[in-house]
Amino acid sequence: MEMILKATGLKKYYGRGDTMVKALDGVDLEIERGKFTAIIGTSGSGKSTLLNLLGGLDVPTEGSVKVGDTELAGLDGEHLTLFRRRQIGFIFQNYNLIPVLTVWENIVFPVSLDGRKPDREFIMEAVRLLGLEKKLDALPGQLSGGQQQRAAIARALASRPSVILADEPTGNLDSRTSGDVIGLMKMTGREFQQTIVMITHNPEIAQMADRVVRIEDGRIVA
Ligand code: ADP
Ligand code: MG
Repeated sequence: MEMILKATGLKKYYGRGDTMVKALDGVDLEIERGKFTAIIGTSGSGKSTLLNLLGGLDVPTEGSVKVGDTELAGLDGEHLTLFRRRQIGFIFQNYNLIPVLTVWENIVFPVSLDGRKPDREFIMEAVRLLGLEKKLDALPGQLSGGQQQRAAIARALASRPSVILADEPTGNLDSRTSGDVIGLMKMTGREFQQTIVMITHNPEIAQMADRVVRIEDGRIVA
C-alpha cells in the first residue's frame, strides 16, 4: 500500500482567546494512492479546512501534510504554488470557471499559467470521457450546471495531477446529474490512476467511495 497523502497532528485554529475556533483539532489521516475517499460531516465540522490543508491552499497552525514524498511545510510560497498546480486538481462546488473564457480556454488555463504546453491528446481524451467535445467553444454561461462542473473536472484533470481534491462538487446539481458527475470522476480517476478525496453531504455519493471518513468538531471520528 502506498500512501499518497499523509496528514499528521493537523490543527487549524482561527482567532484567539475567547473567540478562538478550532476548525481542525488534531487530525491524522493517510490516504492510499488511487483510492476514492469521501469526507462527510455536518456543516462547520472542518471538512473544507482539512481539504484546503491537504492541498496546500492553506497552512496548518500545527502538524504536517505530506503529498507523495513532499512535505508541504518545506516549500516556500512560490514552490507551493507550482507544486499545487502540477500535483493537485481542485474542484469546487461553484465550478469557478472564468466567464469570459471558452470551455477549452478554461480547461487549459492552469496549465498555460504554468508556462507549459497543454497535452492536447490527453485533455481531449478527458473531454470525450466527460462528454464535452461539442461544448469546447461555448462560454460557461451557455452550459448547464452539470456541464459546467464537467468542464471544471476536465480543468482539474488537464495537468494530470496525482491527487484530485473536490469540495462538495455536486452541491449545486440535482441528484441524477450528481450521480453522473461522480460516476465520471470515478471513471477518470481509474483511467488516469488518480487519488480522489471528495467532501460530500450526499450519502448516496459517499456510498460510491472506497472509503468514508467522518469528521466532527475538527476531529476524525470514523
Ligand atoms: P465545513 O467545510 O465542514 O462546513 P469549515 O472547514 O469550512 O467547515 O469550517 C470549520 C470551522 O472553522 C467553522 O466553525 C468555520 O466557521 C471556521 N472557519 C473556517 N474558515 C475560517 C476563517 N477563515 N476564519 C475564521 N473561522 C473560520
Ligand atoms: Mg465546507
